[in-house]
Order: sequence, then structure tokens, then C-alpha cells
Amino acid sequence: KIHAEDVHKSFGKHEVLKGISLDVHENEVVVMIGPSGSGKSTFLRSINQLEAINSGTIIVDGVNVADPKSDINAVRQRIGMVFQNFNLFNNKNVIENITYAPLTLKTMSPEDAYKKGLELLETVGLAEKEKSPVAQLSGGQKQRLAIARALEMNPDIMLFDEPTSALDPEMVGDVLNVMRDLAQKGMTMIIVTHEMGFARQVADRVVFFDDGVILEDDAPETIFNNPTSDRAKEFINKII
Ligand code: ATP
Ligand code: MG
Repeated sequence: KIHAEDVHKSFGKHEVLKGISLDVHENEVVVMIGPSGSGKSTFLRSINQLEAINSGTIIVDGVNVADPKSDINAVRQRIGMVFQNFNLFNNKNVIENITYAPLTLKTMSPEDAYKKGLELLETVGLAEKEKSPVAQLSGGQKQRLAIARALEMNPDIMLFDEPTSALDPEMVGDVLNVMRDLAQKGMTMIIVTHEMGFARQVADRVVFFDDGVILEDDAPETIFNNPTSDRAKEFINKII
């Protein structure tokens, strides 16, 4: 589903991805962990070309996203992305946030977009908030809306970059539950998170990033109980 090979990315002279290779298969949930600045977000963003890579290959559903000849917009429509800070349209209400993309891109009729939007609001527990302005939602509600908005486009891959890091602790569980349901339905996901309980339960694999390289890529039990590298040991002891 996603095949990355020897991906390099620099900002000026600073090389932040130093040869990342990673495969994510259909229905797999991969959690990425690692110290601040190790390149997790940059790698995630390069999957849908929010960052252009300098060398290497990233193939998503058979399309080489780094090739200028590829239709990157078609690829982006199949990848839902959820960020730490929601990135919602704050001047629109809940249902308008959800239907904006399909209506603008004309991928659905207004009736279908609305109907699917309501179903998704139901799924994420926001059915009563259909007409609420985004500004009146709590952080947890905003993040569940952001997930619903991404799902409206029928993505077959979801990327999450620290989706619960900006939330008050009591809001975290609801968002993780929505993500857990998605995983159970077979969504292919890459999730950057510090929620280790969630990672243990939901991840098929955990990938440890350190200074622009992947030091470990293994089952959650192995990474958490028996990390091979000292760097991973040190990191995991700090966050658990
Ligand atoms: P965190 O856990 O703090 O989110 P991260 O692993 O996601 O960290 P990245 O955000 O990928 O790390 O950043 C990797 C490195 O690249 C950092 O040193 C960061 O300062 C640098 N960087 C990221 N984006 C840019 C940019 N647009 N311009 C210059 N440097 C950048
Ligand atoms: Mg980051």
C-alpha cells in the first residue's frame, strides 16, 4: 500500500530524513514513535507530498508520489490526514467542514455529501453538533470532527500526526476510541503518537525514529519490552 525506500529530505543543509525505508500493507496500523525532531512529521508529510523529498522513492497505491508526472491530487484524495492542531475551517460550522472538500472538488452530489457527513458525525459521536460553529467545540470534539472530515473523502489510508497531543487528558480517550474503531474496520493507518497503551493495543507494528533513520520496526511487544537499540531503550523508559 505504501512503499518508501531510501527517502532523503533536507531543509537547507540540515538532513532530517537520512534514508527512510518503510512498507505499510493494506489494513495495517503502524505507530511511529521517536524523539522530538527525529523526522516523524516530515516523513508523514512527504507521503502525500506536503513535503517534497530530495531522493528516494515513495509509492502509494502504485503511484510514485515524488514523480512530477504523477497526479498527486488523485493520491491526496485517497489519503486522509489528521493533525495535532485540527486544521479545521474555524469560520464554518460542523457539517460545512465535512462537506467542503467533496463539494469543492465535486466528487459527490450535495445530497450524498450531506448524507454521508451526517453518518460520519454519528460515527464519531457528534450527531447533535451538525450546525454548531467550530469555535464552540471542545478540543476532543474538534479532533473527532477532523477525523470525520478526512473520512468523508473515502480515503483508503489515514495519517495521524499526534492527534491527541493538544487535548486535555479527559478528551483523549474519545478520540482514541474513534481511531480504534477505524483500525478494527480495516483502515490502513500510520499514527504518530505518544499514547503507548493505544500503540500496544492497536498497532500491528511500531517504528522507532531516531535522528532521521528508523532504528527499529517490530511488533509492539518487542519494541516496548525488548528494544534492541540503546536509543530506543532510553526513549521508551522516558515515556512509559
Ligand atoms: P516532534 O516529535 O517534535 O513533532 P518530529 O519527529 O515530528 O518531532 P519533524 O517535525 O519531522 O520532527 O522535524 C525534523 C527536523 O526538521 C527538526 O529538526 C525540524 O526543526 C526540522 N524541520 C521541520 N520542518 C522544517 C521546515 N519547514 N524548515 C526547516 N526545518 C524544518
Ligand atoms: Mg512531529
